[in-house]
Amino acid sequence: MKQPVLIALDGPVGAGKSSLADAVAHRLNILHLDTGAMYRALALGALKLGVDVQDEASLTRLCDDGAVHVDVQFAKGRQQTLLNGVPVDDDIRSQEIGSAASTVSRYRRVRQYLVERQQQLAAQQSMIVDGRDIGTVVLPMARAKIFLTASAEKRAQRRYQQLLDKGQKTDYQAVLDELRQRDRQDSERVVDPLRQADDAVLLDTSDLDFDQSVQAILRIVEAAYAG
Ligand code: C5P
Repeated sequence: MKQPVLIALDGPVGAGKSSLADAVAHRLNILHLDTGAMYRALALGALKLGVDVQDEASLTRLCDDGAVHVDVQFAKGRQQTLLNGVPVDDDIRSQEIGSAASTVSRYRRVRQYLVERQQQLAAQQSMIVDGRDIGTVVLPMARAKIFLTASAEKRAQRRYQQLLDKGQKTDYQAVLDELRQRDRQDSERVVDPLRQADDAVLLDTSDLDFDQSVQAILRIVEAAYAG
């Protein structure tokens, strides 16, 4: 594809957005922006400063006065998520940071701060952008929009396997409970909740393997950019 490409990929936790977006970005030779990493970095920054992630007023101040500065840069096509200028990608993948990210992401100023930066990044280059509100809020004009989902049990199974592969000790039921809790928190929040954009294509990957899911996304993108 010669024209600039913007793909919005939304869906609940564990739907496989990030690894599928990586694969699609590679196939199309475009960048992948993982917006969840930005919420995670902001949550990490708050925790490091001893700020309660439920405290909206303090989080708002952190965004306003620049005490926590989150940014993204790309090095050899790969995202580096920066917290106050330092790459933190290895420090933000735990379940604890995931839940803290889900909590801070409820707050209006936090979302406004990160959405602004996401929009700037996407204005500069072709990208597949994954998150919860990409098709609805960040890039409502994206030509290709996909809402990726799978059953809670399938998503929990995949997440559990990922954590085991990384050597993190956990149990399946705890992963499933945490995932349901995050689904609730992400879908029920007042500001920009997780929801499918009216013009997004729903893709359920419960019965698809990884390659089949990549192919399905590529077909949706081709169709969106055809003609
Ligand atoms: O996708 P990931 O699990 O890394 O995202 C962490 C949390 O950040 C999510 O549970 C969600 O609450 C929040 N998030 C969001 N909007 C986005 C991306 C992530 O609210 N665009």
